[in-house]
Amino acid sequence: MQSVSSARFVTPVLTQRKRELLNELLGQFAQSVNFCIQKCLEHKLTSRASLHHAAYGEWKSRIDLATHWFHSAGRVATQTLRSWRKLCRQGQADPNRPPVYEARTMRLELWGDKNSTGICRFKGDTIQIRVRKGEYLWLPLIVTEHHERMYLSDWREGKTNVGEVTISTFKDRANDYVPFKREIEPKRVEGVCGIDINERSVDLCILKPDEQPKHIKLDTSKLAAIAHSMELKQKSIQEKLDAPPQRPVQKRRLKAKYSRRRRNRTSQILHVVSKQIAEILVVEKVEPVFEDLMDIRQSMRSKRKSENGQALRKDMRRRLDQWPFRKLQFYVGYKTLQRERETHYLPREQVRGTSSTCPMCGRKNRPNGHVFSCKACGFVGDRHFVGAYNTAVRWWTKDVGSDVPPEWRQMQPPAEVAVPPAKLEVEAQKIPVQAGVQFDTEF
Ligand SMILES: [Zn+2]
Repeated sequence: MQSVSSARFVTPVLTQRKRELLNELLGQFAQSVNFCIQKCLEHKLTSRASLHHAAYGEWKSRIDLATHWFHSAGRVATQTLRSWRKLCRQGQADPNRPPVYEARTMRLELWGDKNSTGICRFKGDTIQIRVRKGEYLWLPLIVTEHHERMYLSDWREGKTNVGEVTISTFKDRANDYVPFKREIEPKRVEGVCGIDINERSVDLCILKPDEQPKHIKLDTSKLAAIAHSMELKQKSIQEKLDAPPQRPVQKRRLKAKYSRRRRNRTSQILHVVSKQIAEILVVEKVEPVFEDLMDIRQSMRSKRKSENGQALRKDMRRRLDQWPFRKLQFYVGYKTLQRERETHYLPREQVRGTSSTCPMCGRKNRPNGHVFSCKACGFVGDRHFVGAYNTAVRWWTKDVGSDVPPEWRQMQPPAEVAVPPAKLEVEAQKIPVQAGVQFDTEF
């Protein structure tokens, strides 16, 4: 198992010569990727090896760069095509319009002892890029204490390895994203923890053999409050700036400012909540299981279009569209991986009915508000807890392949541990946004 965390480095302002060279490289990289995409489609190729065989000679005669640039560009091209083909299969992309690589970024393979086909080298405080034989571009990096502590010290000790470096420009500087990979030996766990994400709370259900289910509710109602207040604010901006005189520049700037603010505040709360969850998982010695929400928005959107499908109310749809389910899953995922535990996803076909199936007798019920009550056996409990419980049980019986232990059925009343709402105290270096969330409603 591998844990990857990426660090962003910025270079000092580059000299004009370096800037020009970098821009030239970015242009040629995009050109090479598009060349490779075209060749793959022409010859119906999918692998890098066959691409090399078919197109290398022509590439070399067109572009004056070290050979290994072709490998990096080919890698990006084959990956782009793979995801495009997938989207075509799902009906989300047009099979007659092949992808075009327009990004002003390049992803470069490393060269070193293990890999001789790379074109760049990470040296801790510089990145060396091989341009042509004997010609290099050196990008010095601004290394902060945070980089040193979070990434570089482990890298120097050989605990992590660097992956493909992504480079783009940023005003007169270069932006470098460097992934640090760490091999992880998964810790032994005692059970699973189903996680049900809702608008106002995140509910955990911890299931361990020989123990009764445990319910933990984390309050995330602040997120809904932020969403609400920001919506009001955006509406008021809209109204004020729609009135004459027209001020398009100001409008765009203000809109960008408030959506950035909203994103920062939301992310901070998500970081706090996910850290809390990760720590609970460590204490309880369990691994998290989520419902696979990968394309929840997609499925909602198609529901919206279909005529016989039940259409969601417009405001409800907007709320769900903006509620960052996936982001929270992602944060919990990497924070638990840092704590040497794996995250599982319940496959989509098993997600159906997790919040409407009775945990005691397995009968389907129509959920009513936040309370789940079973008409068949009389079980009454928190609806979100039931969702988390079913997620955990379904994963357990599928993965571990055993029956549900009888003690898991004993939960009347469900053991409930109250947890105070998430406190907004996070280490400043980890999350570069202002601490403390306040609502200023006047605009
Ligand atoms: Zn029941």
